[in-house]
Amino acid sequence: MALIICDKHGESVVSYVSPAIADAVNGVRHDVDHIADVRLQVTEGAVGVHPIDSEFASRLQREFGIDPNDLSALPEEQSFEILCELKLVCAMCFNEWTQRRTR
Ligand SMILES: [Zn+2]
Repeated sequence: MALIICDKHGESVVSYVSPAIADAVNGVRHDVDHIADVRLQVTEGAVGVHPIDSEFASRLQREFGIDPNDLSALPEEQSFEILCELKLVCAMCFNEWTQRRTR
C-alpha cells in the first residue's frame, strides 16, 4: 500500500481519486458534484474502490466507453489506464473532507 507524507497528518495511506476530487480535498476548488465509486482491479485479485466525480465519469464514458451507471469491476487493462488518470491524496484528508461535505 502506498504512503504519502501529508502536511497535516504526516505519514499517511494514499487514496486514488479523480482530479477534481483531489483539488477539492486539497482546498483548490470548492466542491464537486455527484460522487460515484469506481471499482478498479489493477493487480490480480485486488480490487480498489475509488471515488470519482460525475465530470470524470462522463469522461470515462467518452474515452473508454464505460457506462457511468455501471462502474462495477472493470477489466484489468482498462482499470490500469484509468488509475493513471487518478490523483493521489492523503486518505485521512479525504475522509475528513467527505465528513465535512455530508454535514
Ligand atoms: Zn492528510
